[in-house]
Amino acid sequence: MISLWKQEEANKYKTDLDLRVYTSRLLGRDSSLVLHGGGNTSVKSSATNLFNETQDILYVKGSGWDLATIEAEGFAPVKMDMLLKMAELKELNDPDMVKYQRLAMTNPSAPNPSVEAILHAIIPFKFVDHTHTDAVVTITNTKNGEAKIKELYGDKVLIIPYIMPGFVLAKLIYDMTRDVDWSKFDGMVLMNHGLFTFNDDAKKSYEKTIELVDKAENYLAKNKATLHVDKQSLHVELLELASIRKEISNIKNHATISILNDSDEAIYFSKQNIEIISQQGPLTPDHVIRTKRVPAILGNDFKSDLEDYVKTYKQYFKENKKDETLLNPAPNFAILKNGATLSFGKNTKEAKIIKDINEHTFEAILKAEKLGGYKALSPAEIFEVEYWSLEQAKLKKSTSNPEFAGKIAILTQATSEKALAIAKMLNSKGAAIIALDVNPKVQSIFNKADMIGLKCDTTSQEDIKNAIALAVKSFGGIDILVNISSNEDNNNLVFQELDAFLKLGIDSNIINIITPNLDISDLNSSDIPIHTIVSGLNTDTNIIAELVCTMAGKTFLNTQDSKITLK
Ligand SMILES: [Zn+2]
Repeated sequence: MISLWKQEEANKYKTDLDLRVYTSRLLGRDSSLVLHGGGNTSVKSSATNLFNETQDILYVKGSGWDLATIEAEGFAPVKMDMLLKMAELKELNDPDMVKYQRLAMTNPSAPNPSVEAILHAIIPFKFVDHTHTDAVVTITNTKNGEAKIKELYGDKVLIIPYIMPGFVLAKLIYDMTRDVDWSKFDGMVLMNHGLFTFNDDAKKSYEKTIELVDKAENYLAKNKATLHVDKQSLHVELLELASIRKEISNIKNHATISILNDSDEAIYFSKQNIEIISQQGPLTPDHVIRTKRVPAILGNDFKSDLEDYVKTYKQYFKENKKDETLLNPAPNFAILKNGATLSFGKNTKEAKIIKDINEHTFEAILKAEKLGGYKALSPAEIFEVEYWSLEQAKLKKSTSNPEFAGKIAILTQATSEKALAIAKMLNSKGAAIIALDVNPKVQSIFNKADMIGLKCDTTSQEDIKNAIALAVKSFGGIDILVNISSNEDNNNLVFQELDAFLKLGIDSNIINIITPNLDISDLNSSDIPIHTIVSGLNTDTNIIAELVCTMAGKTFLNTQDSKITLK
């Protein structure tokens, strides 16, 4: 691992906080250090208040910000004296900690300070960098992990046994380090969690992280805990993938996006002894709110495998609960035995985050296996984080449910003005889009994680099959077909090929948008609800888009009656 620090770049940043933004982003740029909102950083500085008094302030990463893209306003300014006093308390429950941390802020509109703010405050250095680095956590998550960390770093790092994040962690470290000379240490390793480094200089604190991670990577290499995966072959049944997504949506009680990970690494992982290695638990406990503790393993009979998963999850809840409420028991990802892996989310972003976390986890597990065996935290310890009120609050915050969240729409003639307006509106209401057109420009127009363009001639069976494969692998299936037809199109082919997939969709709909002189009476071979919009040449595209959204949301309409003619 190498330092990304560039002096000429750093020279542009004048204030403590600006430099903090700069090195936080350097950390955030490497997904093997932090992923999707993981990790946190801080800087101790001072500010003058309204009464011209100087106050010591900890600027600490605000909750909801990502280190890769953080800005100055992503750091919460918290009064140091309050945080240090809080560290002296014998007990503090989590909701009170959040409340008093907020009360200690000098800007009430700043984001909530990280739940590790007190810990950052007690580390007696200006800059503090905290990451969930893959290499270090891979080593801590093995049998005798602590001994290996000692062997690797000697007495240059403080080693903290695993304890739940939040006040109890800050308190433990406060008690452990009261008589400790911090300047003797290069960093602090939190078992099964991550790494802290610190220094009065922004560059030195950041580069301590790089140095310690580099040592961990070399240690893995020296112990042959490396991974080289050859090209893997894959065969998956698209209809089975769509059926799995349907079943997952049923258990979750909402339309769900299912992303197939068919990378060589994912396929290779699915061929290992996954009954053991995939069922240990996550790499760091905060992953649990995304991935759940363990994935489902799906064999020949995925329905009964999912039933078993739900049963086991409920059992895990029963064994560990105090007064918590059961979360939905569906898995958030699954391993198709000897196949590939799937990640499930209420939208593409959520499913993609889970996929990214999995990729790092699979690699760490396979390396840890070569280092004596992967060993995660106990189910009880993971449960504590999964059902932690502060983690639950994070999830609730991001819950907004647009009308078509988790749904998947295919559009034909997608570079037409009508299609562009429809795709934009469906997507703004939550739908993932597969956009088809013979015009190759479709691929640059629709080029987002949840809007994918494909060059496709809808009179070619092979092209339509490719479009189906793209929809099922990228999103899990097909719910809505928006078929824009001209006289010369062979629409029947589209209907025939998509029919089986639409039948496995969630509240499926077909919406035909035709020109006034086109007769589509013989096109409706499907028993999926079909709505028709007959549009004149000059009809406002937004009106058409709104109609499509209304129709796609109303599956109870009797299909043959659902015909609207626009002038
Ligand atoms: Zn952490």
